[in-house]
This record gives sequence, C-alpha cells and structure tokens, in this order.
Amino acid sequence: MKFVYDFHEGNKDLKDLLGGKGANLAEMTNLGLPVPPGFTITTEACQEYLRHGTHVDGLPGEIDAHLATLEQAIGRRLGDSHDPLLVSVRSGAKFSMPGMMETVLNVGLNDESVAGLSRQAGGNDRFAWDSYRRLIQMFGKTVCDVPGGEFEDALHEAKTAKGVKDDVQLDADDLKALVTAYKKVFVKHTGHDFPQDPREQLDLAIEAVFRSWNADRAVLYRRQERIPADLGTAVNVVAMVFGNLGNDSGTGVAFTRDPASGEQGIYGDYLANAQGEDVVAGIRNTLALSELAKLDKRSYDELLRIMATLEGHYRDLCDIEFTIERGKLWMLQTRVGKRTAAAAFTIAAQLVDEGVIDLDEALTRVTGAQLGQLMFPRFDLSGDPAAVTRGIGASPGAAAGEVVFTSKHAVEAAAQGKAVILVRRETNPDDLPGMIAANGILTSRGGKTSHAAVVARGMGKTCVCGADQMEVGRDSFTIGSQEVREGDIISIDGTTGRVYLGEVPVRPSEVVQYFEGDLDPERANDPLVAAVHRIITHADGKRRLKVRTNADTGTDAARARRFGAQGIGLCRTEHMFLGDRRELVERLILARTETDRNDALAALQPLQRADFLDILREMNGLPVTIRLIDPPLHEFLPSLEELAVKVAVAQEQGQRVEQDVQMLAAVRRMHEQNPMLGLRGVRLGLVIPGLFAMQVRAIAEAAVALAAEGGNPRPEIMVPLVGAVQELETVRTEAEKIIAEVAGDSGVKVVIGTMIEVPRAALTAGQIAEAAEFFSFGTNDLTQMGWGFSRDDVEGAFFWRYLELGIFGISPFESIDTEGVGRLVRIAAEEGRATRPDLKLGVCGEHGGDPDSVHFFHEVGLDYVSCSPFRVPIARLEAGRAAVESEGSDHR
Ligand code: ADP
Ligand code: MG
Ligand code: MG
Repeated sequence: MKFVYDFHEGNKDLKDLLGGKGANLAEMTNLGLPVPPGFTITTEACQEYLRHGTHVDGLPGEIDAHLATLEQAIGRRLGDSHDPLLVSVRSGAKFSMPGMMETVLNVGLNDESVAGLSRQAGGNDRFAWDSYRRLIQMFGKTVCDVPGGEFEDALHEAKTAKGVKDDVQLDADDLKALVTAYKKVFVKHTGHDFPQDPREQLDLAIEAVFRSWNADRAVLYRRQERIPADLGTAVNVVAMVFGNLGNDSGTGVAFTRDPASGEQGIYGDYLANAQGEDVVAGIRNTLALSELAKLDKRSYDELLRIMATLEGHYRDLCDIEFTIERGKLWMLQTRVGKRTAAAAFTIAAQLVDEGVIDLDEALTRVTGAQLGQLMFPRFDLSGDPAAVTRGIGASPGAAAGEVVFTSKHAVEAAAQGKAVILVRRETNPDDLPGMIAANGILTSRGGKTSHAAVVARGMGKTCVCGADQMEVGRDSFTIGSQEVREGDIISIDGTTGRVYLGEVPVRPSEVVQYFEGDLDPERANDPLVAAVHRIITHADGKRRLKVRTNADTGTDAARARRFGAQGIGLCRTEHMFLGDRRELVERLILARTETDRNDALAALQPLQRADFLDILREMNGLPVTIRLIDPPLHEFLPSLEELAVKVAVAQEQGQRVEQDVQMLAAVRRMHEQNPMLGLRGVRLGLVIPGLFAMQVRAIAEAAVALAAEGGNPRPEIMVPLVGAVQELETVRTEAEKIIAEVAGDSGVKVVIGTMIEVPRAALTAGQIAEAAEFFSFGTNDLTQMGWGFSRDDVEGAFFWRYLELGIFGISPFESIDTEGVGRLVRIAAEEGRATRPDLKLGVCGEHGGDPDSVHFFHEVGLDYVSCSPFRVPIARLEAGRAAVESEGSDHR
C-alpha cells in the first residue's frame, strides 16, 4: 500500500485518501499555482495507525523518501543548524472539521537551527525566535497536551513586563526569554525537555495529528455532524513560508464571493507580519483584504488572478488561505467555501447566469434546510447591534424576551403575558414546562444534540446552546465582565447562534412574503427572492412527488395553496369538536339512549358540513383528504382529577350535582392506562354508532353543495388507525351507502382510503389494499408503534442520551428511520400496489416536510408527501433535488 503522495501526485477527487486539504493542495499544485512543496500522508495510514496503536509498516521509509525529495527541491535539510528547512504538519480529513484537529508550524527548529533561520532571514533574530516560541507553543499543546493557557499566560506576562499590547512589539531578546519560559512550561507538564531532534519532532507531530482524530471533541463533533468515525485524517507536511518576516510579509484569508450574502466581489482579511492562525485568532485587528492593494499591489493582483482561476476551476465559491513572504505570494489552502443559506441561493443563481452551472446543478447546491432557515423571521441588524456572545444555532428563529433562569419563573412570567428567554447551563426533563412557556432557550453547555437542542427543535422553538463563554449563575449570567440579570432583555438568533443584549427588532422573512405574494415593494428586486423563485420553479418542473399540506381550516388551506400545496393530505377533524362544540360532544358521549345520541350527532352534522365546505372550496379542484375522528373521546371530557375534586367538594357542601356525577362516571368509564393504544381511530368509529356516519354524510353533502356552486370537489375519506382489512371494510360498506344516497346523480365522487400507521397494517397491506383506494402513511404513529415509543414522553426523557450515545444519528420523529420504520413503508407500498396497481400512496405527518425523509419517499415511489404549510416549499425543493439526484445515479 502507498501511504505518501507528493503534491504532484494527487488531485481534488482524492479527498477520501488525501483529505480535503491535501487533495486541494495537490490540485492547486497541478494548476501551476504557487504552493509550497510538500506531501500528504494518507487517511489509510491514519486508519492503520489507529488500528495498531503505533507503528505503521512501511510508513517511515516512505516519509524518508518524500522528505529527501522535499529537501532536494528546496535545497535545505530539515532542521539543519546553518540553513534549516522547516515544515508545517497539518491535519486534513475528508470533511472539514473546523477547529477539531491540529496543525503544528515551524517543525525543525531547535536551539541551533534557530540561529540558522535567523541567518537565512538576513540576520532577523526577532523573526527566528518568534518562530521558535510558536513551535514550542503549538507542539506543546497539540503533541504533548500541555495546557495552552500556560503559554498564553507566559506571553501575556512578557507583554505586561515590557508594557506593550501587541506581540509584534516584543523584540528578539524578549522572545528569547519567552522561549526559555515556554521550555519551562513544557518540562513542567511533560517531564522532559522540548525535543531537539528535528526528525523526532516531525514524527511526533504526525502521530499527534493521527491521534487527534479520536480526541473527545472530534468524536463528539463527528457524531453530531454524522461523519463516519472510521475515515481517519490525512496529514500534510508542507515546506514553511513565512508571513512573519516583517511588514512586507503577512498572512490572510479570502473568499471569491461574499459567503454571507453571496454578493460578487473579493472578501477577506489580511494581517501584516503574522503567521498562521493570527488572522482568525483575532490577536490584532486585521485589515480588509482590499487594503492589501495599497500595501503590496503586485501580490494583490496575483491573488485576484488566482482567485478567478480557482472559481473557474471549482465552479463555485472558494475560500482561500494564503501567506506573503517578502512580497512573494503563496497559496496554503483552498476549498469550496461554506456559506449562509441566503448566499447558497444567490450564488447558485449567479453561477447559472454566468453559464457556469445549469439549473439542475443549481438544485444540488442548495438544500431544503437552507430554505427553511430563510423562512424564519430574522433580526433586523441594520442598527448594528453588537452580539455579546455566540453559541451553536440549535433551532432556528429569532427570539427576544426577559431573561429567566428557572422553569418555574418562565412559566410564571409567561402567564403574565411576558416574552421570556429561558437561560440554563443545560436543560433536563424538569425544565420542560419552562421550555414550553419560553420564547427561546439559551444554554451555556451542550451541542446540537443536547437535551435543550433536541427538545427545542421538536417544539419548533428558537434555541441557542453551548454558548460557553457564558457563566450561568442563580439569578444572573456573565460574559467576561458583562453581567445580565433576571428580567433583563436579550435577543437570541437560533440560526447564527448569536446573542444580543436588549431587544433587536425582528423583520419578516422576504422569502415567506414572496410565497405569500405580498412582498414589500422595496424588497421586490431582492436577488435572494429572485434566486429562490428561479430554483424552486425548476424543482417543481423536475419533481415526481406531489406536495400536499396538512390543514384543518380554510385559512390554513388558502395559505398552503399560496405556498404551492397541490391538495390537502391530512385534514384533521378533531379540532372541529372543540370550543363551543364541546358541549355537543359531551352530550354525545353521555347519551343514555339512541335518541339522545342521534340528537347530538344531528346537531353536530351541519357544523361539520360547513367546516368541510369551507376547506373543499379553498382547495377547489385539488384533492382533500379528510381523516375521520381519531383521538380518544375522553380527550374532549374534563380531567378526571379536577372533576373528582369538584364533585367531592360539592357533595361535602350538600349541593346537588347530578350532572357532574354523571360526567364523572363517564370519565371514569372512559379512562385509559394507555390512551395511545386505546379506544381511538377506527375503533371509536366501530364502537360509537353513527359517529363516522355523521362525518361521512357531512363530507358528501359539502361536496354536493360545492358541486352545485359549480366547483370541483375532490374529497377523500381517510380512516385512521386501521390494523386489519375487516375494520376498513366495515367502515367502507356503511360509508359507500351514505355517499351513494347523498351524491345521487350529482356526479360527486368520494374516494375512500386508509392511513397506514399501525405496524400490522403495513404488514398486511396486500389485504388492506382490497378495501382502500389510497394509503397515507402516518409516520408519526408508525414510528411510535414501530419503536414502542410514546412521543410525548420519550423526547424529553431520554432522546438526548440516545443521541449522545450514537444510538440515533437524529431523532426518528425528525427524520424517518429508513431501516426500520422505513422498511414498513416499503413493504406496505410494494404489497399494496401488488394488490391494486393504481393505489395512490402518500405520507402525512411532519416527515413529509423533512429533507432526508422526502428523498426516501421519492425513492420508495410514493405519489405525494403532505406537510404543514410552512414546510411545503421545503418539500417542493427537496422533491426536485431527489429527482435530479436519482437521474444522476441513473446515468451512472
Ligand atoms: P486549519 O485546518 O485549522 O485551517 P491549517 O493546516 O490550514 O489549519 O493551518 C492553519 C494556518 O497555518 C494556515 O492557514 C496557514 O496560515 C498556516 N500554515 C500552515 N502551513 C503553513 C506553511 N507551510 N507555511 C506557512 N504557513 C502555514
Ligand atoms: Mg486549526
Ligand atoms: Mg486552514
């Protein structure tokens, strides 16, 4: 096996083997760009090392050979005392893992070669000792686990002693003394001296990079980002170039377009007389990249040329790391750059305009998740509010409110109508009431899969977590010297993770305004809106999946239609039994005689007919799937505890409470240990005579009424919770009779189908399809029953732990579990269609608007997905992406 590749041997497509950084360094080398020479040790070498613990057969020999080539190319030997070659040792995995793994610069320096380096630089002692102290610092931290803070303290002391602010103000002697101090720190923590042998430094640094793959934070990050654990990292050994040689030198980062807005132009930061990560570390104020034109026009122009070359070559926004050594430009890194959601859309559209990519490819450059981010209201940052700190954007949205520190205070304040932000070190299941009451949640610990993050996403609530500069106390939190007390107002941005003091105004999403058709005139020419329009229109043309919506009212239906819904996939009827109709429902439940029951049903029926007419009218011409009543009836009755207390108190006081006593008896009768698995859905319809019949009649009558108005009603009746074909047949026989009677010769058709949400239904789908004209997968219940989870209980109770342990990559309620629950969907789809080839297949439930799940449903061959109105555009986009992707794989 070959473990080491010279930069001339690799290319950008070898990311698996060479890591992203190595593959792109090779690509730039082969493009003839000025990259310092070097070589890459493969991810396979890393995998071998991690498997065996230490030695990798054949690797040392290959490193010798490539090092010799490198020394020859430069004309210097590694760490030579008179004229040393120095190298950097840089990690670089297939997927970028920012800040997770390590880099050591200036390898090859020791007590002797530091003098050689000074001579090389024309007697620049300051530079040589600065480089040496950086090596000890980075090597100590990265290779030997010396706490970095101690080096920083020593540097800080040196500056204080001299009375200066910046490290550039330290002279050669100061730095020499600093090296001595650093060495002491090194010995103190490692028990041995800083290694003087350059080759030993190199080998130790390479091994440390290998090991950094399994550092705790890297493991955690991979789990959260769902990056496989066995990839390993490559190691790049690169000849050093120096940005810290004086003011004609420096280092910087650049983007070929603005990664925040997508605007065309040159963006970046530059820092003169600096090395490595000084730019991003924020130790001194950087210059805007355009200032470089004044400092060093030649290098600047060359950089612009190279950026154009790279963009043309990668056909996308690139980000770049570069260094200038005494007026000579060197490229140290490039990759296709990360960008905000807005920039992703704008750039994709720009590239189409520029003829660089076509619209199909544009679809692959954006995601439904990004579109989702753009549909939340955002903070209006035109007043330039300063963020006090930043955490992880765990659940998008913009929320402002008074700070509270306990769940109890959150509930109390919310009850007074106040908007609050619940601030906790981390949350646990006890905080649930407060999380529900709060406008947003902010924690100082935990990542994207912490309890706070998981629960907030489940609730669709704004959350920033892991803001670790924040010290959370009992009734205040501090960030540095800033203190924020209970009752102070803060604003949190769940997309960017930024936290602001005070109330930042919120502006509505222009993308939502565009879908709603009421865009502010001043935003009409917004490039983002134009880009979204263009890309989603293309997705619509491409997709095979239709997108419907879940809506229970005419208003929701109308909005969803504006968002592009092609019908209703789930109209829940239970909401129609609440409010002032509750009394009728109670009468129905308490009915002693058939007459009482029929009276109650007869009173409900015209109300239901009006509900359905409203919805059918809004969706005129499009299919509307109406689900017969699903939840257990006791949900419509008063709570057992409250009623029992009320009756007891009343009886104590000798009052007559005949009605309450009756009600209490009914509630007791209907009480269930496991309501999720109890008398609900089709079971209810089969037990309460006339209930489903009333609904079916109301639907049929509404359809006939709309047809009489000249409309085109397309109602579909959906029977919930079916597990056996006999259940469905019983309902169907009765329903068909009613429909025939109501429809007469009006020409109105009512389709009858079922939900597939009980595992048994999926497994007997071949039989059920005999009685169903369509299946709609209720993936929420299918997930609950497939896993044996009660959603309301488990999400807060232990999902965070399952995520932490990697048992889930993501909550199975967020994204469908393709292996288990998805398998049930597959079986039911196949066997259902075997019985009835024109069986219509859809999915209702939030999975219908989840990007990954949409791809799965496309692949399984469903006809449509149905999701909440706000997710309709996301599903449209993802269904288009899924179509383009599967075309791509057909070509292969
Ligand atoms: P990261 O993956 O964190 O960006 P890098 O390996 O890119 O780490 O190293 C960080 C920085 O160190 C680079 O941006 C560059 O400024 C500097 N650096 C790395 N290798 C060299 C080198 N051979 N010569 C000069 N500077 C280097
Ligand atoms: Mg780094
Ligand atoms: Mg880098």
